Amino acid sequence: MGLHAVLRRAAPLLLGLGWLGCAGPPSQAPPPPAYPPGGYGQPGYPGPVADSTPASEPPRGWNVPQPASGPPSAVPPGPAAPVVPQPPPAAPAVPPHGPIPEGFRQPVPGRALPSDAPAMRYAELRGSACRALVKQRGLPVHFEAKAVAHVATAVRLTGSMHGVRFVTAPAPSPFGILDCRLALALDDMAEVMARFGVTEVRIGSMHRPHARIRGTGKTSQHSHGLAADISAVRRHDGHFVAVKDNWGAKIGDTPCGPSAPMTTGDADALFMRDMVCAIARAQLFHHMLTPSANADHLDHFHFDIQRDARGGWVR
Ligand SMILES: [Zn+2]
Repeated sequence: MGLHAVLRRAAPLLLGLGWLGCAGPPSQAPPPPAYPPGGYGQPGYPGPVADSTPASEPPRGWNVPQPASGPPSAVPPGPAAPVVPQPPPAAPAVPPHGPIPEGFRQPVPGRALPSDAPAMRYAELRGSACRALVKQRGLPVHFEAKAVAHVATAVRLTGSMHGVRFVTAPAPSPFGILDCRLALALDDMAEVMARFGVTEVRIGSMHRPHARIRGTGKTSQHSHGLAADISAVRRHDGHFVAVKDNWGAKIGDTPCGPSAPMTTGDADALFMRDMVCAIARAQLFHHMLTPSANADHLDHFHFDIQRDARGGWVR
């Protein structure tokens, strides 16, 4: 029996143990250092950033833009300054709340990914081929000068893709490091997100050295920089939508497809679900874990690609 057949047969058991989950601490590796000192975001390393603020407010943490500093805004006495006519603000290219172009109850592809699915193509790329594609696409990617253990081609994101800004941990934190191949998948993901009016995506971590899957000891794709944990997105009007507050399904529910339940009529939850299921239909990742998967993923999405994986799913 081949390795894939073994993995397929063992999958239900492994999933029952939280296989491919990503919030667990490394079970065999020595405890990694904290990045930066004092803690990364609010939860402890190596967990994802958990936003504890309402969805209408930006999460607090390392990646929250601070208001510009400047003099107090007291109005000085004296004559009023002449009013300079300003051009009207440009109309938003995408309305902040729709129309939502796709629905979460549309069918999603089966588990077996075709060989030309983006996830399959990207996961098998050699480093040189990935570099060439990144340059061809003109992606805002910085190639790390130093090799990063267990990451084939380590890069950091330095700008927006398709108008979507990626907010990740800054250097020298390893959480902002990703493999070149994941950058290609995130580029495609940004294209889908842009259709939904997203302008910013918050990623708690990508590379987590020695990360292992809770309950199994197996290597997580985070250890290779091939997984991203997404905690929130910002929409065109500046409105934040956090994963933990906007899902509308229970653990064990089917996230996408004709039988997928939705427990709320809230527009943010519908938006979030529609968007994630559109990403699933695009087959950009092998494994997509949502709050429907297990308790480890109630506050973030885990999207990864994996070399030699043949199946893909969202759960
Ligand atoms: Zn993860």
